[in-house]
Amino acid sequence: MTLRTIESLGQLSGKRVIVRCDLNVPLKDGEITDDGRVRASLPTIKALREQGARVVIVSHLGRPKGAPEARYSLAPVAVRLAELLGADVAFATDTVGASAQAAVAALADGEVVVLENLRFNAGETAKDDAERGAFATELSALGDVLVSDGFGVVHRKQASVFDLAGILPSAAGLLIAAELEVLDRLTEKPEAPYAVVLGGSKVSDKLGVIGHLLPRVNSLLIGGGMAYTFLAAQGHKVGASLLEADQIETVRGYLQEAERLGVKIVVPTDVVVASKFGADAEIAVTPASGIEDTTFGASGLGLDIGPETAAAFADIIRASKTVFWNGPMGVFELAPFAEGTRTVAAALTEVDGLSVVGGGDSAAAVRTLGFTDDQFGHISTGGGASLEFLEGKRLPGLEVLGWQ
Ligand code: ATP
Repeated sequence: MTLRTIESLGQLSGKRVIVRCDLNVPLKDGEITDDGRVRASLPTIKALREQGARVVIVSHLGRPKGAPEARYSLAPVAVRLAELLGADVAFATDTVGASAQAAVAALADGEVVVLENLRFNAGETAKDDAERGAFATELSALGDVLVSDGFGVVHRKQASVFDLAGILPSAAGLLIAAELEVLDRLTEKPEAPYAVVLGGSKVSDKLGVIGHLLPRVNSLLIGGGMAYTFLAAQGHKVGASLLEADQIETVRGYLQEAERLGVKIVVPTDVVVASKFGADAEIAVTPASGIEDTTFGASGLGLDIGPETAAAFADIIRASKTVFWNGPMGVFELAPFAEGTRTVAAALTEVDGLSVVGGGDSAAAVRTLGFTDDQFGHISTGGGASLEFLEGKRLPGLEVLGWQ
């Protein structure tokens, strides 16, 4: 079965439509540093407004622990959304309380309200089905139907993503539909050679993906924080770099499995080592086998892939017909450690085939480094979600919308 579409919800004029977006944007000192996820949510919001729906937007931001925290307020996001829509956007200072109820009741046809962060309510992410269900029921009182469009969270069994879709008539929004169309091309007969590039810092989340990806790809390029567990598995010392010591055996298994399957796992041959975590650190480029041989010794931190590695990755990427990339190659937010990510991003723009960048931080990285969205085949708003999709996992937030 395929996803239920917005049309399946019938006539929406005058209806209260809850739209579950992923407006989890990076913020620095209260300012949005990359509004990609807000922009990606616009087509659905605009389509609903044009139909005269009363649009009630819900989203999470960051990882508050089930209670309000000012730094995770969606207020700046509502302001940005109003600018991008060129229309007023109301804001409720709670999610299901008096402010939300009054703001929703005050909506005229075609108007929009953003409710405060879903994760200020413990029920949103509760493991307990009853607690999650109770929060979803409170949310359901604010709408007649649900349009689920937060692709970045479809792998989460959370109240607004999963339970609410079972209470209200529900359908997928245009962003989810667009994301799946591209990701489907990556799972159904991707054109070979197919390379997957993995980096970033959520190492334990992403290591598990590798076992599932190996039989599907021709090469797997490993950079970012994840690389150090691979280097350790090859017997190298990695100083104070990110390391998942309890995953070293698993990674050894991946290396053997890759050899058996004839898949290339490419790990860094050189890295940029820093004396400390900071833009003013002393740095040295060293062979990956000699991370502890610099003057920083065992306190050296690997914060980027080296130039030789970046060039090798770029060659493989350019020679591929299908490339999926998730996770920066280094701490790109700090200029001395951005080069690896820049080189990989530049190579992706030259792919003669389908290039996909997936993940909130990865998308922010390419934009921060000056690339534009149209230089890539697709920029996905979901990192974890797209990886789990590529793994072939069943995602709760999609299944509940009819996806099988
Ligand atoms: P999301 O899953 O939220 O969509 P993402 O998948 O794009 O995001 P993450 O796994 O969250 O990416 O990782 C991004 C972070 O990884 C960046 O903030 C970057 O600084 C950090 N990072 C990259 N390389 C290293 C490294 N060698 N050591 C420490 N941190 C690193």
